Amino acid sequence: MSDTEQLVVDPVCQMRIRPSDAVATVEHDGTVYSFCSQDCADSFTEAPEDYV
Ligand SMILES: [Zn+2]
Repeated sequence: MSDTEQLVVDPVCQMRIRPSDAVATVEHDGTVYSFCSQDCADSFTEAPEDYV
């Protein structure tokens, strides 16, 4: 077990998640965002500028 993995913030719901637990990832403007759910990823994909 490792706790060294850095948490990332789901930009849609602000939940902190481990990248390895992300259900979906979306690249925007050269940055990869991780999401807790496909719903969050879909919301981000529809309007990424609302979340970055
Ligand atoms: Zn989320």
